[in-house]
Amino acid sequence: MITSTTGPQPADFADVRATNLAVVLRFVREHAPCSRADIAATTGLNKATVSSLVADLIDRRLVRETGLTENRVGRPATMLVLDGSPYAAIGVEINVDHVSAVATDLAGERLLTWRRSFSAGDSVSQGVASVGAIVRRVINRMAREERQVLGLAVAVPGLVDVQGTVRLAPNLGWRDADLGGDLAKALRDPGFPIQVDNDANLAALAEQRFGAHAGAADLVYLTGEIGVGAGIILDGRLRRGGLGYSGEIGHVQLDPDGPPCHCGRRGCLEVMAGIGSVLRGAPAPAEIHPADIQIEIEEVVRLARAGDAGTLATLSAAGRSLGRGVSILANLLDPEVVVLGGHYVPLAPWLLPAVHAELGHRVLAPDAGGCRVVASTLGQDAAALGGAARVLDSVDSGRLPGGLSRIP
Ligand SMILES: [Zn+2]
Repeated sequence: MITSTTGPQPADFADVRATNLAVVLRFVREHAPCSRADIAATTGLNKATVSSLVADLIDRRLVRETGLTENRVGRPATMLVLDGSPYAAIGVEINVDHVSAVATDLAGERLLTWRRSFSAGDSVSQGVASVGAIVRRVINRMAREERQVLGLAVAVPGLVDVQGTVRLAPNLGWRDADLGGDLAKALRDPGFPIQVDNDANLAALAEQRFGAHAGAADLVYLTGEIGVGAGIILDGRLRRGGLGYSGEIGHVQLDPDGPPCHCGRRGCLEVMAGIGSVLRGAPAPAEIHPADIQIEIEEVVRLARAGDAGTLATLSAAGRSLGRGVSILANLLDPEVVVLGGHYVPLAPWLLPAVHAELGHRVLAPDAGGCRVVASTLGQDAAALGGAARVLDSVDSGRLPGGLSRIP
């Protein structure tokens, strides 16, 4: 949307101005260092409007001037970069054995990554207490750094509806939990928005903003935890579906005669290609405590490196099943990239050859529709980082901190 500082002002002038502030902020985020003239030339906003908008963003400490000047003919220009030093975005991820918290500044630089232990059997109220405890500590740290918290987004492994209610989180044993509302009470209405979303959705946002394929318009993230879920970004936007339940690829049936899944069906992708299938095939105890998964995965990696035939066969079988699941995504959505996350990351060197072979057989489009399958580079806390990304997305789309101090 484009406006001018002269001429008649529409009734929703404040909305137009907020939209234009967001346009300028996004431009600086993507093109910094850049000049006011660069912003005007690319956005189509006139120079006087850009100057006014930039002044407002500087007042809010979202943008700052640097001493740099462009090396070009003519009058040197003052260059602009993102500031955001007085702000923080918080993301939290609830996993079966731990809670992670990540805080970033406005530019997405990580300020902290913390974990605390958590038990999958904990009730929702115990879960709220755990998340509340770590978030309070993050808020206190940000306050000591004189940063204003812009928002909090919490990632949950399960079905989260578009209102943010956790409808079903099977691996946590939670059902119909108003996690956001309960957290707001536990934090005594902290004065910033609290959002709750599915872990795969938020991890996909983290990949879109921070990952090796950042900026990809069509990207799918697959969680590699006890469960397998997909976060789907199409045409640059996260696709939640009508009620928010998209991406449950873990329960797509690959084999009607396959092993039973905890959902009550048989041969789901989750039970054939999830981390459980890798560990069940490995010489590991039948029942693995969630806290021990990391250790067991390291043992699988060690055996695979040593060329253990049984381990290699198990990984190859899991890779083929995973490849069948990814082929469904590729045929249906034609993503540029499918990112494997969580525990899939250390196993990727042994999973990916089988995944790629299945894609070659099963995707109708030549060269699998250009779909690449890669391991995430964001580490274990991608969904928590994605929570922070979601908060930054809100700012980029116009929910700016601070008042409109310079409306003419
Ligand atoms: Zn299932």
